[in-house]
Amino acid sequence: MTGNNSSGARSLRFGKMVDNVLAVDGLFHDGEAFSLSGANPATPRMAALMGGLTHLARAHRHEIETIFPKVQRRVGGYNLDELLPEQPNYAHLLVGSEGTLAVSSAITLQLSPLPKHRVMGVCHFPSFRAAMETTQHIVALDPVAVELVDNNVLVLGADIPLFVKTLADITRGKPNCLLLVEFAGDDLDALRRDLKRLDQCMGDYGFPDAVVEVIEPARQKPVWEVREACLNIMMSMKGDGKPISFIEDCAVPLEHLADYTDAVTDVFSKHGTVGTWYAHASVGCLHVRPILNMKEADGVRKMRAIAEETADLVRRFKGSYSGEHGDGISRSEFVEPLFGAKLTRAFEAVKDGFDPENRLNPGKIVRPLKMDDRALMRFAPGYQTALPAAPALDWSDWGGFGGAVEMCNNNGTCRKLEGGTMCPSYRATRDEQHVTRGRANTLRLAISGQLGPDAFTSPEMKATMDLCVSCKGCKRDCPTGVDMARMKIEFQHHYYAKHGLPCANA
Ligand code: SF4
Repeated sequence: MTGNNSSGARSLRFGKMVDNVLAVDGLFHDGEAFSLSGANPATPRMAALMGGLTHLARAHRHEIETIFPKVQRRVGGYNLDELLPEQPNYAHLLVGSEGTLAVSSAITLQLSPLPKHRVMGVCHFPSFRAAMETTQHIVALDPVAVELVDNNVLVLGADIPLFVKTLADITRGKPNCLLLVEFAGDDLDALRRDLKRLDQCMGDYGFPDAVVEVIEPARQKPVWEVREACLNIMMSMKGDGKPISFIEDCAVPLEHLADYTDAVTDVFSKHGTVGTWYAHASVGCLHVRPILNMKEADGVRKMRAIAEETADLVRRFKGSYSGEHGDGISRSEFVEPLFGAKLTRAFEAVKDGFDPENRLNPGKIVRPLKMDDRALMRFAPGYQTALPAAPALDWSDWGGFGGAVEMCNNNGTCRKLEGGTMCPSYRATRDEQHVTRGRANTLRLAISGQLGPDAFTSPEMKATMDLCVSCKGCKRDCPTGVDMARMKIEFQHHYYAKHGLPCANA
């Protein structure tokens, strides 16, 4: 999180990482250790470096003050603004540097007391725009979180056994979308009054009786689990079109949120697609993923066109192109269009000051890689999957056996060690080979020819599938509904067709 300067659903109250990091110990690109906190570097090397960069920042004061977006969620570029105060904390320059400047070895954080109580109001809206327009008025009530659950999640989540009960508990009728509004503090009665104010606010803006109160902690927990699973619920779409992340954390001022989301939706329809929206409405940082088929060149072309047009919109609405996840490969190309040439040269000077040989995470933030370079993608040009013979089971609902395997998006829920069932073989072995994700990745690489000929029916593949006990825990617990037990049946059919059935299994 320090690397990305990211934050969470409650950033309204607790800010981003840069607001919570006190010190960073780390290593330069050549292995020399350093420690950064406050404005007093411990070594002559760091003193010279930070002195030069502070001078650089102050020479760019005008650009920083006029071009850096005035939204809480600005994490793109380097934090040159943090060097402007008389007494800066130099560690803050490293926050959000995405591993491009140094390698951290210890991070000292400021802690905040947890509030004693939390209450939630689930606000129902008849349209997405209504939710976006009302967000700014809800934020004025001083909640700690306002999180969007959009129509796609409501529709897809209703088919996921894990979430059916929770969605039934918190929804009344057929809302288009929800805003989950949380108030937190030490006085429960005051929080109950906050919920009444929320209800009043919703009524004032045209939505009377549209708030479901969720006061009991035991009821709130599964609601947050639905919210946290939004990404994976969306990724549970079957077929080659998937919600793709590359503009997923742009942030705009709240007064522009409805117009921005409308305009981005128009961009999607212009390119023949739709987007799925969720998360941090409170700070204008909605996660959005247009549905694209990244196996085809046309999907990649659309991705670039949508990125360029969205970057224009973000600039028009004075927002931040990256509000949580950092620049990475997807957004670094847009640093210069959004920050301008002069600040981009200053960012390059920051990079060169720390890492003159460009050894640390090159191609991110400055001197970027191409975001549409297919050689960097999961589905490189020519990607195809094939089984060695006709499938034993009907995979048509999944878009073929390959589609079933590709449902795994590497989210890693199967590595959980507590709760649910998935995945017993991992809990026993703690080995990536024996977890749902490891099996899905091995299957995908094998059927797409990336592990050499006959990999799908190899002894190594068998070893990867052997400890799957076919409990179907993943089918229930995996947010994207990966069904490894079913895939194992398919695998065994082909494996035994090639190697014969041992007497012990006959
Ligand atoms: S079916 Fe296999 S992969 Fe899925 S949870 Fe059970 S043991 Fe793990």
